Formats: sequence, structure tokens, C-alpha cells
Amino acid sequence: MQFSNFSRNFKSDSGILQLMDDLGHAEGKRGEVFMLGGGNPAEIPEMQKCFREEMVALLNQGSDFERMTGSYDAPQGNRDFIKALAELLIDQFGWPVTEDNIVVTNGSQASFGMLFNLLAGEYPDGSHRKILLPLTPEYIGYTDVGIGDTNLFEARQPVINVDNIDDPEYRYFKYSVNFDDLRLDSHHGALCVSRPTNPTGNVITDQELMGLRNLAQKNGIPLIIDGAYGLPFPGIVFTDATPVWDDNIVLCLSLSKLGLPGVRTGIVIAAPDLIELIKGSNAIFNLAPGRFGPSLVNRITDNQKLISLSRDVIRPYYKNRVAHAVSYVNQIMSDLPVRIHKPEGAIFLWLWFENLPISSERLYQKLKERGVFIIAGHHFFPGLEDDWAHTHQCIRVSYAGNPERVEKGLSIIAEEVRRAYD
Ligand code: PLP
Repeated sequence: MQFSNFSRNFKSDSGILQLMDDLGHAEGKRGEVFMLGGGNPAEIPEMQKCFREEMVALLNQGSDFERMTGSYDAPQGNRDFIKALAELLIDQFGWPVTEDNIVVTNGSQASFGMLFNLLAGEYPDGSHRKILLPLTPEYIGYTDVGIGDTNLFEARQPVINVDNIDDPEYRYFKYSVNFDDLRLDSHHGALCVSRPTNPTGNVITDQELMGLRNLAQKNGIPLIIDGAYGLPFPGIVFTDATPVWDDNIVLCLSLSKLGLPGVRTGIVIAAPDLIELIKGSNAIFNLAPGRFGPSLVNRITDNQKLISLSRDVIRPYYKNRVAHAVSYVNQIMSDLPVRIHKPEGAIFLWLWFENLPISSERLYQKLKERGVFIIAGHHFFPGLEDDWAHTHQCIRVSYAGNPERVEKGLSIIAEEVRRAYD
């Protein structure tokens, strides 16, 4: 069959397609599979119990279930949920939000697809603008969302800190924003940063965030904060980080990492003119966003349990898991020149094998043959043109799965990496 140029957007070498394909195949595959590659959240019993109870309540409350399944929501998303969320944000953080600042989407991947195409590309004044990623590595899922214009990003390398955080026990490193290399001009449409960052688990500091916020404000462009793992929920953040929002910030949230990736619900909190455009795209491409996710979390948003669950259940759970994963890596890779990015949030370890003799892509292939799925580092540099050792020497490993399988997967990674150095 022949296809239009539009088909180029969905090419099979896309990193996010490879990742989601791996995830799907691993689920259906027989034999030993160690899925350390995907972004699935952990199965946290207390969260699963909570969602099950909310589902039962939906089924038992009058005609809630029939309304949820039997009618479309408004293109802006479920009104009850939006109202409850606006009240929660005002109560908990004092943010100046109203219902006009919130729109629901079919997952934050869909939010980014729309946002990046709205803010990068051709402008009516003839200018051509890009999204500036002030700190790469950055989320693999941004790379290929440009529709028509496939070159939406410009990216900067970070400063690498090893000195002050060299823990005698763990050889950590940490990336920070290189503000000296961050000049904005009229060909930038927005700044965007994930906080915590996928793939590294970095949480940019309040001070760095303030720097980006001021820079965006001064240049009259928005700052997009991807809070898929972050604040205010699901709150997988282990440092002192403050959640911020003002109407020059586009905060993207999601229900996925609360434990609900299957319901495909994203949320954008932004200035009303941008919300109107996303609402329009919901209507044009989807009629309305899905109603299931918002209906399921409506009560825990309304009674603000969403925040206490994030703080008291989700965050401690992952804090425990990351400590275990780091200590296991340290134990089994002590003879290897590995550094771990200081895991300050999210659900991944970003491992840097200094001067790795094979590319991280080759390592990915070798591991896949042994049933271990990771993500090769080079996928996480959308918009970065310079060749840089970290694009080929790093891998992302998720520690959210079954702890024993994560250990076994890490052991096989250690074996393959050792073989590469030998
Ligand atoms: N942003 C980041 C940083 C992510 O890691 C993900 C998914 O893993 C997304 C956005 C998209 O999440 P979803 O579409 O499930 O809301």
C-alpha cells in the first residue's frame, strides 16, 4: 500500500515504538523475561486496593457507572473531576487556578503531542520555533511527536557533577542545567523539562526551576513542566522539591504513575488560551477524552486523599525500592566502572558505564537475546546534535517491577557489561 508523507511520522525505528513493542511482547512472551525497560509503575497493593474500592463505589452509586460508560464527557474533560482538582490545587498549594486552567487528555503522551505541535514549528509571523530542552537526557516519548515538522527540539548538554556527591559507597553523578549555555531567542517556542527527569531520576532543584521560570517569563514563552512522576501527584520525589505553577507554566500531569497507566488519562494545567486549544483538539481528534480515569479518581481528588496517598504510600514505596536497587547494583557491579545518576525521583536508574567498549544499543540487543529488556541511552537525546559519550555509554533500567526479577535482570546486565569490557 502507498501512504502519504504523513506516514513518516510513524516510522518503525521510533524509540518509543520500540519501547512499547518490547513491553507488549514481554507480556505475552513465554520463558524468562526480565522487563526492566518499560515505564510501567509498580504494583503497589495499597494503591490497587484503593482503586478497586473506588471502582466498587462507582458500581454501587446510583447510575454513576452507566453515566461513565454510556455518555461522552465534554471535550475539556470530566467537569466534576476538573472542579475537584482545581479545589485541591487551591487548598493544598494556594495556586491561582480555576476550572478554565485545566483540561483532561487521553494520557500525557497525548498532551505532549498536542503541546509541542502547538508551540513549535511555523508561526503566523513567519518565524520557525523550537522547544528548548534545557537538560538532556530527556524523555524518549518527546522525540517523534512532530507532525509534519519532525525537528521540533533543540537541546543542551548538562553540567556533570561528580565531586560533591561522590558517596564512598555509591559512585553517584548528577546532571544540572548549564545556564551559561542557555540563551533564548525568537526561534524558541517553549522551554520543557521533566521533573523528575525520565530517564535519569534527576529532580532539578527549586533554584534551577526558578532560573528556568524567570528565563521563560523574560522571553515571553511558556515553561512546560512534565510532572508525570512528580508533584503534586504521584509524588515520586525523594528530595525537597516545591511544586510550582503560574499561568506561564504548563504543568502536565498523569494518572499513569499512580498505578493507572491502563486508563490513559493526562491533565494539563495552563493559561486558558492554551487550554481552549487542547480542548479543541480533543473534540476534533477524539470527540472527548476518556471518562473512566477521571471518574475512578474523582472521590479521592475531591477528598484530597490523592495527595496523602502520594506522600504516604507511593513515595515511601519507591524510596525503599530505589535504595534496594542501588545497593544491589553496588554489590554486583563493584568491579565495573559504573556510575549511577543520583536517583532523586521517578522509577529508573540511569547507569553510566564509562568508556563502554560497545554501544548501549549493542548492549540492549545482547540483553534482549537473554530476555532482559532495558532502554539504550541514545534514545533520550531529542534535539541534541553533538556527539557525546553519554549517548552511547548509558542505559535506563526500571526498578519498578518484581524485586527478585529486577535483581536477576541486573545480574545479567552485570554479566554482559563485564563481558564487553573483557
Ligand atoms: N512523561 C514522562 C516523563 C513519562 O515517563 C511518560 C510515560 O512513561 C509520559 C510523559 C507519558 O505518560 P502517560 O501518557 O502514560 O500519561
